[in-house]
Amino acid sequence: VKESKEKRSQIMRAVKGKDTAPELKVRKLIHSLGYRYRLHASHLPGKPDIYFSQKKKAISIHGCFWHGHSCKRGDRIPSTNTEYWKDKIGKNKLRDKKAFKLLSEKGWSTLIIWECYLKEIEWVKHKVINFLEN
Ligand SMILES: [Zn+2]
Repeated sequence: VKESKEKRSQIMRAVKGKDTAPELKVRKLIHSLGYRYRLHASHLPGKPDIYFSQKKKAISIHGCFWHGHSCKRGDRIPSTNTEYWKDKIGKNKLRDKKAFKLLSEKGWSTLIIWECYLKEIEWVKHKVINFLEN
């Protein structure tokens, strides 16, 4: 059974969307720590989800599937249209890598928070504090 084009674009919209649940969760966490941030840096490579202009630091929340994380969720390529998804995710990974490099060339540091990390919110909290304070 092939996924219909419509179904596929539905999935894409869902995974590419701004203000996703994981993103909101991280925003809430950072806010509760007392940091003030800006959202969706369209002027920066890779358009990081959250950024701190003065510190030149950016945080992106990555969906494990969409960005090809090497975890259980990220490794699960759909059994239909496998080549399509492999290609798509491969391109996303390349784009992420490029954005990361461009940002660091501009003097920015980036923290990637994978969706699966959010199961350990305390750990993410420490990771964020470390990132922003060092
Ligand atoms: Zn993951």
